[in-house]
Amino acid sequence: MAETMQFKAEVKQLLDLVIHSLYSNPDIFLRELVANAADAIDKARFAALTDDKLARDWQIRLAIDKERRTLSITDNGVGMTADEVKENIGTIAKSGTKAFLENLKNAQAAGTPELIGQFGVGFYAAFMVADNVTIESKRAGMDAPAVRWSSDGTEEYTIEECDRAETGTTVTLHIKGDKDIYLENWKISEIIHKYSDFIEYPIILPFVKTNEDKTTSIEDRTLNSQKAIWLRPASEVTEEEHNTFFAHLAHGGKPLKHININAEGTNEFKALIYIPEETPFNLFMPDLQKKGLQLYVKRVFITDNCEALVPDYLRFLRGVVDSSDLPLNVSREILQENPLLGSIKRAVTGKVLGELKKMLERDAEQYKKFFKEFGKILKEGIHIDPANQEKIKDLVMFETMNGKPGELVTLKEYINAMPSEQEHIYYIIAESRQLALASPALEIFKSKGYDVLLMTDPVDEFIMQNFMQYDKKYLKSANKGELEIEKDPDAEENALAEATKKYQKLLDYIFDKLQDKLSAVRLTRRLTDSTCCLVGDSNSISPQLERLLKAMHQTAPESKRILELNPNHPVVEKMLSLCENDANSEQLAQYTDILYGEALLTEGSPLPDPLAFVKSVSALMK
Ligand code: ADP
Repeated sequence: MAETMQFKAEVKQLLDLVIHSLYSNPDIFLRELVANAADAIDKARFAALTDDKLARDWQIRLAIDKERRTLSITDNGVGMTADEVKENIGTIAKSGTKAFLENLKNAQAAGTPELIGQFGVGFYAAFMVADNVTIESKRAGMDAPAVRWSSDGTEEYTIEECDRAETGTTVTLHIKGDKDIYLENWKISEIIHKYSDFIEYPIILPFVKTNEDKTTSIEDRTLNSQKAIWLRPASEVTEEEHNTFFAHLAHGGKPLKHININAEGTNEFKALIYIPEETPFNLFMPDLQKKGLQLYVKRVFITDNCEALVPDYLRFLRGVVDSSDLPLNVSREILQENPLLGSIKRAVTGKVLGELKKMLERDAEQYKKFFKEFGKILKEGIHIDPANQEKIKDLVMFETMNGKPGELVTLKEYINAMPSEQEHIYYIIAESRQLALASPALEIFKSKGYDVLLMTDPVDEFIMQNFMQYDKKYLKSANKGELEIEKDPDAEENALAEATKKYQKLLDYIFDKLQDKLSAVRLTRRLTDSTCCLVGDSNSISPQLERLLKAMHQTAPESKRILELNPNHPVVEKMLSLCENDANSEQLAQYTDILYGEALLTEGSPLPDPLAFVKSVSALMK
């Protein structure tokens, strides 16, 4: 008996978006359904490697029935049981669905088409052109009854057992009244040619043929050339074909660049790898981000979820690796452990990093475009891939204190622009460019004419822990540790030591008052205009990272900071005289509170007690 089930809320939302034309181009419903059919055959063919009984003459058949207004897509792939249909079609099981729907709505507002496929929900695109969709399916390799699923794509679907002997799936679309065009052979042929030409299995559509004697007969035609684009000579593949293939892999979007690898010798493989032009929406969804490169063995699709193929920090790549040397008939899990995969990964990583370097040298504009999209991810490599760390260091770019917003420089460019007496590379970590530039810690660098790298990505602090050196120059934080500016004439050091003697009483007073918050109070040469600033000791983490870790419910080491004072500032001088006059004065206590509050505010940290701060300010203003 047919069972009627409600769609889950998020599916309803999705269907609503689809039906109200999420895709600017409805043609791609067929691309998605054919891709599903080909995936299903991939799975069955893989299983058939170890079980001959499952082997078939693999194909995808299309059929049009103009009278009934139907278009159907049949594959002899793996099929689904009733439970699998419910799970795969009735719900969106993937995590991050909510975020996805939000993105989708925003993207729709921006007029961006073709997002659905990126989230593994391409099937629903059928409802753009159909007012009813039926799936009939029988699972291969399992003794389960065949199942029929049917829905008009609004609130609910029905599901029941049905008669079907062949394993595989037929999806039948009842075409909407205003979408007659999808009942025309020429239109269907055109779409397949455009979007699915390289699908490995024949996609067959029957045509009516007029014979010489004027009688008619039905003739099967294969619509696609089935040529694996990655096996063709690189020079023969047109840009148009690359665009189409990329859209197939990434479910939309365009490639910025393609990279061919043709490895020979003991580990033979061919690869066609794309750097996308834009960040795919799904890149940050944990379930899907791993789907990077597809692994084929001798043209047989193995998996698109192969973490062993590229390191995490290149997870934005899309493409295909086709190996001649990996064994075919073992399980995916065992295959993932094959050492040949490790060597493919090294080769792919080396090649991609090399191509990025070339792009940087030959087409800086294109490279910057790339880096703005994926630099955040690439940078992680410095932390996680020691073997390629030096190569990645050549590729990273930062904004600088003296540059314009959005203007990026490499470390090499930074070094080339350094004044001759500057010894180290300086950087500052902050939440934003604005906060970085407001930091009093930069004053000394401004006065010396040194530039400072602005590190405003949350990952920057992690990667700096492993950065150490570039081109034999140390990277030094502008607001951590003792100020390590170029070797100073001893005179300045002596002057500071002298000043410290003079200010000792004040320094002790402030430390005594704030010792639960601070690890030290000292004078500095760092400041030229401001009264004070907070710095960490060289091993501490920044307050930004501390807040980030806390927000993620991780234990952050509570790091006490160092308060540095500018001995040449009138306010600090005034405080000294107050302190010398009467260390118990109310005014001195208020000055101290305000001074500390000021230091917190300038680095973008919240005040622990804003009310007390305001009171101190008002009291002094009176
Ligand atoms: P995706 O294919 O990206 O995962 P879809 O919404 O298009 O997302 O399909 C959801 C799931 O339904 C697929 O992952 C697959 O498990 C199943 N499915 C869809 N079409 C078929 C088919 N023709 N044969 C077998 N399973 C299918």
